[in-house]
Amino acid sequence: MDFQNTNDSLTHRVRAFTERVAGLKANDLYYLNMPVEEILPDSKVRLRGRTMGMYASYSYLGLVGHPRINEAAKKAIDKFGTGTNGVRMLAGTLTIHKELEETIANFKHTEAAVTYSSGYATNLTVISSLMGRGDYIFSDKLNHASIVDGCLMSGAEFRRFRHKDMEHLEGLLKNAPADVAKMVVADSVFSMDGDIIDLPKVVELCKKYNAWLMIDEAHSVGVLGKTGTGIEEHFGLGNVIDIKMGTLSKTIPSVGGYVAANKDIITYLSHASRAYMFSAALPPAQAAAANEAFKVILDEPWRIEKLNENTKQFIGGLKGRGFDTMLTETAIVPVLCGTDEMAFAMTREAQHEDVFVLPVASPAVPEGLARLRATVTSAHETSEIERAMDVIEVAGKKLGLIK
Ligand SMILES: *Cc1c(COP(=O)(O)O)cnc(C)c1O
Repeated sequence: MDFQNTNDSLTHRVRAFTERVAGLKANDLYYLNMPVEEILPDSKVRLRGRTMGMYASYSYLGLVGHPRINEAAKKAIDKFGTGTNGVRMLAGTLTIHKELEETIANFKHTEAAVTYSSGYATNLTVISSLMGRGDYIFSDKLNHASIVDGCLMSGAEFRRFRHKDMEHLEGLLKNAPADVAKMVVADSVFSMDGDIIDLPKVVELCKKYNAWLMIDEAHSVGVLGKTGTGIEEHFGLGNVIDIKMGTLSKTIPSVGGYVAANKDIITYLSHASRAYMFSAALPPAQAAAANEAFKVILDEPWRIEKLNENTKQFIGGLKGRGFDTMLTETAIVPVLCGTDEMAFAMTREAQHEDVFVLPVASPAVPEGLARLRATVTSAHETSEIERAMDVIEVAGKKLGLIK
């Protein structure tokens, strides 16, 4: 069929998608967009009337529902209400925003920080307001979609290096003109594979080729480093990242995104980035919850220890049962399935046994590398993790994924 660029082709595209979803549903292979009915303790949720172990959560330290964080949010509502008077630059800034930004700057050991209404918006606006036509951005092939979109939106020369391939990165840096603005950008922990960027090497290359470094810490804050402050602590490095980006929606149980950096960069971003200028401020309750959460991480370091234990148990146990967990070193644990259909079927088998895991298929990951993208948190009990792995093992054997 040749629809060209007519509205017929648009209708066709939309319909093809709808049919694919309907087909998966008809075969009990569709588990996306399921409404959770209740969040329960110990990383459990109520769903379809059943109690399930949650293995798809980003709440790595189990902070969703933490009493101190809930209390901070409630107090902020009593004080400020549920919304703001608009965008940050005009009437939207509240004292709680300033407190939160100071907390983030302290936590990340920088001079200052700025927040936005989501991590996605943060990457989009920060990259596109710092970089522009004629500049060069170097981005890891497996970087998060929001980084890719920010790079495309910036209009800068966009060079992608093979995943964690430092020789390739160096080659690209070497080939770029010497007298242009350069920035290297990468995830700290890669969101689909769970592996960690070689920060010491990237820092070395940035110094050698005079490039700025931006690192997305969505999956490293609360996860990496003895006290959970992130990737610099993990590698025992000081303040080596120019732009430390993070989200307030993963370990931090709120919503929003931030950048921590020196004062000049933050002053620039809080006057020149469009998501700051043209999108409403974070709601007071969410800002207060995030502010308290950073403090809880520092006050309750046992959570990080427990997360590390649980991660080790989960990766070791799945590998021992014959699964390919790729190169993960963190709480994001891919269980390689191959085809999209295998990943969907594995999901169904696990969910039937009350283990809430979800598949990631193409185009979110390369074709043929579909997987369960399981996560573990500090809130899981040892025996629960064991049970979940047994369920996944039975499913894998039944479907012929493992022997
Ligand atoms: C989740 C995520 C984001 C986006 O953050 P949100 O706050 O959910 O918009 C950005 N980068 C990475 C690596 C992420 O995993």
